[in-house]
Amino acid sequence: MTSAILSTQPSCDDDYDPDSLTCDEAWRRIHAHVRPLQVAERVPLRTALGRVLAQPVKSSINVPGHVNSAMDGYAIKAHDVPATGLTELEVVGESFAGKPYAGRVLDNQAVRIMTGAVVPADTDTIAPQESVEAHGKWIRIDGRHRLGQHVRRAGEDIESGQTVLRAGHLISPVELGLIASLGIVEVDVIRRPRVAFFSTGDELRSLGEPLGVGEIYDSNRYTLYGMLTRLGVEVLDLGVVVDDPVALTAAFQRASSIADVVITSGGVSVGEADYTKEILTKLGAVRFWKVAMKPGRPLAFGDLGNALFFGLPGNPVSVMVTFYQFVQPALLQLMGANPAPYPTFKARTTSILKKRPGRVEYQRGTLARDANGEYLVTATGDQGSGILSSMANANCFIVLGMESAHVPADTPVDVQPFFGIV
Ligand code: AMP
Ligand code: MG
Repeated sequence: MTSAILSTQPSCDDDYDPDSLTCDEAWRRIHAHVRPLQVAERVPLRTALGRVLAQPVKSSINVPGHVNSAMDGYAIKAHDVPATGLTELEVVGESFAGKPYAGRVLDNQAVRIMTGAVVPADTDTIAPQESVEAHGKWIRIDGRHRLGQHVRRAGEDIESGQTVLRAGHLISPVELGLIASLGIVEVDVIRRPRVAFFSTGDELRSLGEPLGVGEIYDSNRYTLYGMLTRLGVEVLDLGVVVDDPVALTAAFQRASSIADVVITSGGVSVGEADYTKEILTKLGAVRFWKVAMKPGRPLAFGDLGNALFFGLPGNPVSVMVTFYQFVQPALLQLMGANPAPYPTFKARTTSILKKRPGRVEYQRGTLARDANGEYLVTATGDQGSGILSSMANANCFIVLGMESAHVPADTPVDVQPFFGIV
């Protein structure tokens, strides 16, 4: 997942925690546990955007459906091409896209043809417009034409009967176009996972409510709503639940009875009012609850009835980092897709990056390019887990490996651009 930048031995100044899983191990456990949903549904093509194919898509037609021209020019017979000098051909008709030439073409005749138009049956070669001299109903060609040039074969792109997309393929705009090109109007996709989420905390107020002393607005439900909606899952927002074991137990039970996945934020640290782990142990199973990462160390994963459970930390940046690094790939897997690792490349850091060994850090950065076109990355100010503007002003994660300590300026570091993630 990451690579070490600077190695140091563990010391009292680091952050090694024997109870924490490494990020790689946490993902390995999630990956091994999540079973793709098995229920498929048939939907109109446009509705399939963002969904995963439950069945392969096969073509019942050739694409293109007919032999057609790759150039504007003249359809000719290769045997009319002169060995030396020039020869004249009579232009007997025209074949335009959607309006083929229906007649015969005799020897020493040609048909005016446009790109994409059907190549007349008697012809086999296209003489591009710029290679001939045209004089009214006659063209003059030289000997530089080869049999079959600029002719596109029927089925050149896709042959009838061919499997074009496999089950498990995630439908993006290109697949909508590809499936449309086969004339297919409905596809079989895995049903959308139902994802229920709620925030926990006595200090949280929903939008529209006045704020008392020490109270804050619940922002996590908004970032979660956005991230989940982008993924195309069915979103069930269950509001704010106070830090009370009875209320939390009821909320967990309700959520797990209506959803495939339950996501909470807050209440997973080791504070007095952090009941999540305790309740999860009672109602289901805790598979892990601490990961050696920052932000996001208190991340719980387990089962709640038949639902998967992710207990995200309360801090707003931690919610986003743990969602993108763990929940999003898990949801894709549940949707039947095969989540690919995020694109990661090296960029040189423009200043020192503060870092403690013993955990992977996902700092937030902005990418730029220097005069040589090489990537530079700058951390977006204060990297506190509660500072959501550090995400808003960023366009990438800077991923600093487990063993890394402070990273000096000008060091190449791993970056994950947001456009490959969000
Ligand atoms: P917790 O994990 O519950 O201890 O929360 C850690 C920090 O995140 C605290 O400062 C909380 O006030 C804050 N926090 C928790 N939930 C939310 C939320 N839904 N929106 C904004 N901040 C939150
Ligand atoms: Mg809390």
